[in-house]
Amino acid sequence: MDAAFTFTVADLAADEAVRLPCACRVRTFGREELAALVGRDVRLHLIGLRRELWCRDCGEPPFHGWLTRAGALQL
Ligand SMILES: [Zn+2]
Repeated sequence: MDAAFTFTVADLAADEAVRLPCACRVRTFGREELAALVGRDVRLHLIGLRRELWCRDCGEPPFHGWLTRAGALQL
């Protein structure tokens, strides 16, 4: 199985973040933020299914996210 499909919140490096786009914006979640919201054992490729992360403005689930290094963020 592709490692990407078993990658969980706990596997993120401390300086990595997940960017989740929805219909109105892109939000960035750090590892500790994700752990607090959905837990450490959630697989990243399923994280868009978690209602805790759905956008409160447009109501869209963020199905396609990507990883980034927190230090590289320019928001
Ligand atoms: Zn939105």
